[in-house]
Amino acid sequence: MSSIPFKDIIPEKQILTEPLDEVEYFSKDWTKQFKVSSSGVLFPKTHEEVVNIVKKAYEHNIKLVPSGGRTGLSGGAVATNKEWVLSLEKMNKILSFSKEDSSLTAQAGVVTDIIQEEALKHDLYFPIEFGATGSSQIGGNVATNAGGVHVLKYGSTRDWIMSLKVVTGKGETLDINKGLVKNNTGYDLKQLMIGSEGTLGVVTEVEVRLTAKPKEKSVMLLGLNTLDTLLDLFSYSKNNLPISAFELFSKTSLEHVLSSNSQLKKPLETDVDHYVLIEIEPNNHFDVTTHLEHFFEKEWVVDGILSQNTNQFKELWSFRELITESISIFTPYKNDISVRVSKVPEFIKTIHETVFKEQKDLSVIVFGHIGDGNLHVNTLKPKDMPQAEFIKRCESVSSLLFAELEKLGGSVSAEHGIGLLKKPYLKHSRSQSEIELMKSIKKVFDPKGILNPGKIF
Ligand SMILES: Cc1cc2nc3c(=O)[nH]c(=O)nc-3n(C[C@H](O)[C@H](O)[C@H](O)COP(=O)(O)OP(=O)(O)OC[C@H]3O[C@@H](n4cnc5c(N)ncnc54)[C@H](O)[C@@H]3O)c2cc1C
Repeated sequence: MSSIPFKDIIPEKQILTEPLDEVEYFSKDWTKQFKVSSSGVLFPKTHEEVVNIVKKAYEHNIKLVPSGGRTGLSGGAVATNKEWVLSLEKMNKILSFSKEDSSLTAQAGVVTDIIQEEALKHDLYFPIEFGATGSSQIGGNVATNAGGVHVLKYGSTRDWIMSLKVVTGKGETLDINKGLVKNNTGYDLKQLMIGSEGTLGVVTEVEVRLTAKPKEKSVMLLGLNTLDTLLDLFSYSKNNLPISAFELFSKTSLEHVLSSNSQLKKPLETDVDHYVLIEIEPNNHFDVTTHLEHFFEKEWVVDGILSQNTNQFKELWSFRELITESISIFTPYKNDISVRVSKVPEFIKTIHETVFKEQKDLSVIVFGHIGDGNLHVNTLKPKDMPQAEFIKRCESVSSLLFAELEKLGGSVSAEHGIGLLKKPYLKHSRSQSEIELMKSIKKVFDPKGILNPGKIF
């Protein structure tokens, strides 16, 4: 076999082995903790090319790392051990639209925002939205079961997939579910594939379900001085308002957004410790202001603002959506955890009062999709602390964090997946029996372990 083993499978211009910095660029995701080392990058354009690549890899025991938009936050798309990166970037065609089925079929490398734009052209809506959908791909969303800001109303990617075309670790093609709404014919391989992080198969085509476009959206940004009123605010909102997002961020999160975006001004006059952003999809007769007044009467909030137009809607959202980007200069160590919604305030208190109590020099930023019990806990690297020391410190804090989380029956990864980053902590959320079963399932789909080896477990 030649030193470039895929030369006879795909055109040479679809194989990248130099320059090394470009190879490295395609061999990693948003995480910065891992030393990248890959043999090169493959850019198939068709399903058949993916089949042939995987068959060749199977035959010669070559390891592959499926790679989408590389916005992953758990090291799932990182090559660290001379694997070949299988980039879906050039598989970026919308294949078909069905008005009757309200669905859209696309190659796996189509960027998520393009799916959303395409849906809007047909006056329909694809509700998976979050801060990286301008770069993430629909195949990556499937592989990570991406969530985002509208899970509360619309669910996660899992709820929007009608069909998948997948290549297993042996190079077999699976045409899963074929667009059926009802299909109780044994085990649900579609759901098994969703969230499998490229370890069971390479997703090459995806049919997504679309829904009616929300007629109108408003957002309110509310200020709270205590988390003691958070659950009252949430349960009232959930039961009485047409909410589609319920997000929380801290005062410090907002300070980072403001200091890195000079055009943005402090949104509320009152100084508060916590901000809640509630998005609603009201119909024409819905009276939001009465409910807003109720929040003040009950003293659940101390300040608040309701968007009056599209620009203000976008600006209020930007305070939440720009947090990840604004703290990225501090190479944050990220934890993306979930607990039952009813345990959120208790867990936030535990984070500050127990987990980080002895870590005075580490700044911790907490924000997240509270309506789903999902908190993003970001530890920022102090400027002068060497990266290795920082990671070591964060890992020991994580052990404490996950031990507390386990007591509450929480998850060590709410939406970013396990990848490489959360692998040591899987045991806090999954029993040994579950992990062994997952390993056995992996062997069925990928008997030689060539797909994304070393990820998840
Ligand atoms: C600013 C920012 C905000 C974010 N906010 C959210 C959020 O709110 N909610 C959320 O869920 N995530 C969020 N993420 C994480 C990330 O965007 C999602 O996990 C996204 O779904 C990853 O898609 P991707 O195409 O970038 O995948 P990649 O990062 O390229 O890959 C992710 C995993 O999927 C596998 N994979 C990729 N493509 C395929 C394929 N075609 N077949 C098989 N396996 C494949 C990879 O091997 C890897 O394991 C955020 C990320 C950033 C940078």
